[in-house]
Amino acid sequence: MNDLKSSFSAELFRSQGHQIVDLLADKLTQSQSNPSQLVNELTDPEKSYDEICELFARFDSTDSNDERSLKELFEAVYHRSIRLHNPRYLGHQISPVLPVTSLASMMSDFLNNGMGVFEMGVAGTAIERFVVKSLAKKFGFNRSADGVLTSGGTLGNLTALLAARRAKASRDIWKEGTQQQLAVMVSDQAHYCIDKAVRVMGWGEAGVILIPSNEHYQMRCETLEEKLRTATEKGVEVIAVVGSACSTATGSFDDLVAISNFCERNNLWFHVDGAHGAATVYSKKYCKRVTGIERADSITMDFHKLLLTPALATALVFKDGRYGAQNFAQKANYLWNETIQTDEWHDLARRTFECTKSMVGFKVFSILAMHGEEIFDQNVTAVYRLAELLADMVSKQDDFELATQPKSNIVCFRYIPPGESEADELNQINARIRAQLVNHGEFYIVQTKLDGNVWLRTTVANAFTEEKHFSGLLEAIRRFSKSTS
Ligand SMILES: *Cc1c(COP(=O)(O)O)cnc(C)c1O
Repeated sequence: MNDLKSSFSAELFRSQGHQIVDLLADKLTQSQSNPSQLVNELTDPEKSYDEICELFARFDSTDSNDERSLKELFEAVYHRSIRLHNPRYLGHQISPVLPVTSLASMMSDFLNNGMGVFEMGVAGTAIERFVVKSLAKKFGFNRSADGVLTSGGTLGNLTALLAARRAKASRDIWKEGTQQQLAVMVSDQAHYCIDKAVRVMGWGEAGVILIPSNEHYQMRCETLEEKLRTATEKGVEVIAVVGSACSTATGSFDDLVAISNFCERNNLWFHVDGAHGAATVYSKKYCKRVTGIERADSITMDFHKLLLTPALATALVFKDGRYGAQNFAQKANYLWNETIQTDEWHDLARRTFECTKSMVGFKVFSILAMHGEEIFDQNVTAVYRLAELLADMVSKQDDFELATQPKSNIVCFRYIPPGESEADELNQINARIRAQLVNHGEFYIVQTKLDGNVWLRTTVANAFTEEKHFSGLLEAIRRFSKSTS
């Protein structure tokens, strides 16, 4: 055990840093070129949780004089973590990080600039501003757009809905509290965080009006008028529509143009939950899938899902930046008159839930600085293409069924053993296949429920996944469908 002073030794840090960077570079090599590296060495949490806890407890030097090396600790953590850089990682929507940006994370952690106020993070604040403004431009907004970086799509969506409430509700709820039944309209495929946000704001179950989806899991926009009329007749004050771009389960994009037309006609706020798919704007080949996004009042986008950035890195952009700036102000200012301090942009904590925050923007900016936004195009385009390839391969197999043609890098399908058509049986088989795949660790995929049935769900996270990995996955699925344990 070292005393405080020697623990801060620059030479100690230098040697630790070199060791750990070497270790991670070796791990990256393994992920990229060792075909037998497992994605995950997960074991049944029921059986191994205590064992793993004990393992880590042994590294705590509080009550022990055992010298255990830093490298051993980092090895132990790696060994029990899922490897996103492995091309057979096809699970939840989170990006393998571009190595250079993990160095930016380290710098952010080293500096620990709180960034709530300008003087506590000059570089971090300026960079965040740049990142937000350049994203706003990418969305097709003009110079009056502005926004913030925040901690996750969930918080980004809640923050957006607060702004929507301030802009559209008939009373000043920030001051008076909620006295009327407010609601947002959203497709039944929306991420559950919209429902969560509504409940956090105190609008209860009636605060979400679910719009049914079609066979491609997109909002049935033609039902919006009728739903709005019914709600209004019941005395519900609808303030916003949330479009999913894309939805989480199947990666389907709502028709943003239709939603925008509806919102304009009815003076409603139009929010795009683009946590996953707003990043499609970077792809020259696929950007048309988010046509209409430029008409949104606000857009949430995660950099950590498609854009190679460590979590959490979320942008919330407002078409009219003043809504973001006034969101948490004590006094609502509906007229946006001159009394607004437009020069307060540099104290970022005024605009977010967070007070202290890490230098999120720097993680994104390290990518832009080294590679330009071209690399975002390359990544999004590559993983969307790969999803099409996987869907093609699945459709060609008699014993597989594709849920819907993928529009992003999310592909849902299920295994249908020859001769089997009973729904419960198929659900059980697919759930069992997924559990066995995860236990085995060669592939990592997840599952979802669509119309009450179990489907296997993959997100092609890695641009370096190849056709051979997909055929390996389909083979593994067939193999596991036969084993019962
Ligand atoms: C992932 C996702 C979210 C939640 O974002 P977090 O960054 O995980 O909080 C919200 N909406 C959609 C559509 C998503 O895909």
